[in-house]
Amino acid sequence: MDVTSILDPLNDEQRTAVTAEARALLVLAGAGSGKTRVLTHRIAWLIQVQNVSPYSVLAVTFTNKAADEMRSRIEEFVGSSTGAMWVGTFHAIAHRLLRQHWREAGLPQSFHILDSEDQLRTIRRVVKALELDETRWPAKRFQWFINTRKDEGQRPAHIAGGNDPIHAQMIHVYTAYQEACERSGVVDFAELLLRAHELLRDNERLLAHYRDRFGHVLVDEFQDINTIQYAFVRLLVGTSGTVCVVGDDDQSIYGWRGARVENIRRFTEHFPNVCTVRLDRNYRSTGNILAAANAVIANNGDRMGKNLWTSDEEGDPLRLYAAYNEHDEAQFVVERIRQWFDETGGKRADCAVLYRSNAQSRVFEEVLINHKIPYRVYGGLRFFERQEIKDALAYLRLLENHNDDPSFDRVVNFPTRGIGARTLEQVRQLAREENCSLWQASKMLVQQKKLAVRTITALEKFLLLISDLAVAIKSLSLCEQIDHVIQGSGLIEHYNAEKGERGVARVENLEELVNAGRGFEPDLVNAGRGFEPDDVEDMSPLAVFLSHAALEAGEGQAEEWEDCVQLMTMHSVKGLEFPLVFVCGMEDGLFPHQRSMNDPTGLEEERRLCYVAMTRAMRHLYLSYAERRRMFGNDNIGVPSRFLREIPAELVHEVRPRVQISRPVSVSSRRSVPSAAAADVAPPGFKLGAQVSHPRFGEGVILNYEGAGAQARVQVNFERAGTKWLVISYANLEVI
Ligand code: ATP
Ligand code: MG
Repeated sequence: MDVTSILDPLNDEQRTAVTAEARALLVLAGAGSGKTRVLTHRIAWLIQVQNVSPYSVLAVTFTNKAADEMRSRIEEFVGSSTGAMWVGTFHAIAHRLLRQHWREAGLPQSFHILDSEDQLRTIRRVVKALELDETRWPAKRFQWFINTRKDEGQRPAHIAGGNDPIHAQMIHVYTAYQEACERSGVVDFAELLLRAHELLRDNERLLAHYRDRFGHVLVDEFQDINTIQYAFVRLLVGTSGTVCVVGDDDQSIYGWRGARVENIRRFTEHFPNVCTVRLDRNYRSTGNILAAANAVIANNGDRMGKNLWTSDEEGDPLRLYAAYNEHDEAQFVVERIRQWFDETGGKRADCAVLYRSNAQSRVFEEVLINHKIPYRVYGGLRFFERQEIKDALAYLRLLENHNDDPSFDRVVNFPTRGIGARTLEQVRQLAREENCSLWQASKMLVQQKKLAVRTITALEKFLLLISDLAVAIKSLSLCEQIDHVIQGSGLIEHYNAEKGERGVARVENLEELVNAGRGFEPDLVNAGRGFEPDDVEDMSPLAVFLSHAALEAGEGQAEEWEDCVQLMTMHSVKGLEFPLVFVCGMEDGLFPHQRSMNDPTGLEEERRLCYVAMTRAMRHLYLSYAERRRMFGNDNIGVPSRFLREIPAELVHEVRPRVQISRPVSVSSRRSVPSAAAADVAPPGFKLGAQVSHPRFGEGVILNYEGAGAQARVQVNFERAGTKWLVISYANLEVI
């Protein structure tokens, strides 16, 4: 293969970067300017032209998927296997090093990796062993402390003590936790990085070996590298290797996880004679999309300064949709996706639906399932498979049926309430002997008083909690039941104590479960799912909801190979591109997120996130917000995101709803009311915006109508039951 195939698809600046002889190369450039392309072509150039062995190349990517893509792209150029090359995320590379040198790293050969949940459980055990009161000292707080310190490269001995007793306690638990990990030969995620760094730092022979081996280190998405990762790169490159990093300060979105954008500045200080290349031509997006994204990011201060341009056509304007509520938003998005397939025959995988918070995926999932459109939720689990949702469902199941053993097992000591493994073993044993449920066995144990007083009290308290909750929710509506249980069980409080983005996401998901209960309509959901209407009739709404959740967890999500719509958070979409992108939920409080709105640094990070999201779009970009949204357990009137106001009006076209909707005064005054465009005539008495009442769904507002005579249907947004289409002649609707 000749080198022209490597250089031809590049512009002059890209070519300069790919062929630069410099020992340290920094490509600082905006979104879609070809940074990842440069990195890939540079590796091909090194191998093909400079005769560098793939064995000497170490490339760091942001995801494992990106690593696979990079490798196969390079193989296309060099026409041979690059198996000896190391390509992967920092975690994957650190893991590989530790596996190969477990002895030098002081680990057992079969060391085990703790995921975040395992880590938390271990910390909890440590906290208990130290006899700390968990209500005062939540394990999550220690987890946050430990991981942040490890990301900064600090062992307990490196942390200054001071007089603060809380700080001293943190260090104390960090020390004890680390000892526990060493004893059982386990390694958490942050430890992988820290330990790989220490392995090379403290082992001269190994360091010399790897410096010699990896003469060429390349890093993508350099703006999101944290302290220990950067230290690792510096150490490995030393004074003899070459290093190439590519990044964009405007896309730094992991500050909350310890990423340090200052590393870009430090890079030019730490390495001598850095060759900096800037790329300013964007190849991804149309002129309008790029102009809009540039306008948004221009509001951030302290940027390293980039002016992206494109020679692409202006393209369509961006489309903005003001949805009536979150269901209407999802409905709109899915309709547009359908329309796009029909018109272009494109692939589903070319459409991405982006949102700020994981909990937002639920409504989109629901509408996609109803439309039988395969989808995949990336970088996260589907709603009903998320841990906190499973916890809440286990409580609800246990209330429905005290003898549900798996649910009992899941929540008996979660959140922790002093029921230890030994006690549970006794419960299980008795259940086996008596051939009864765990619930019944626990009752027997409590009655027989054969256990220690403390244990009996703890067990009894749990039994009482469940029976009390079961009584308390009897007269409540489904959503109130869910709400009552997530509060009463202590789940909300528990997850509230979990620091950082993850804890917030979990609480949001739990609150979204309450919303799910509010919009739940058994008949519709269960049609075609093996339920007979009579079955449903006899079941409590909670029981039907639980069966629905169980089924939902097992379907909908497309198979790996299937062409499907991509759903993901704005964080996990980094580095990717799609012809059609929807950025949803653009309301102040949701995006920018509530927590960041009054904090200038936080707000700038949210704005960068907005920039990342918008610049994923190649041809069509839709933005949407909901005028009303049930969020965080409340009904909110949505104020359009401040980021929307930062986009020049001439670049945006507001999509009109198909028909005029009369909106509440407070809302309609904020936006122009579109003109009526309905082909059908409103059925007599059923005007848009009219308040109606339905015997089962309660009160709602008419949003839309279609058809005439016996086929006339209206779309009603019910306060409790969400949006529904109803045939007027059957629906028994009353105008109020
Ligand atoms: P991000 O900041 O989002 O990670 P990036 O700077 O890494 O973006 P790439 O993903 O490498 O950008 O490139 C963006 C798109 O532009 C890709 O589809 C890529 O194939 C295309 N592209 C890059 N350079 C050129 C070029 N010289 N000619 C044609 N297309 C190009
Ligand atoms: Mg990239």
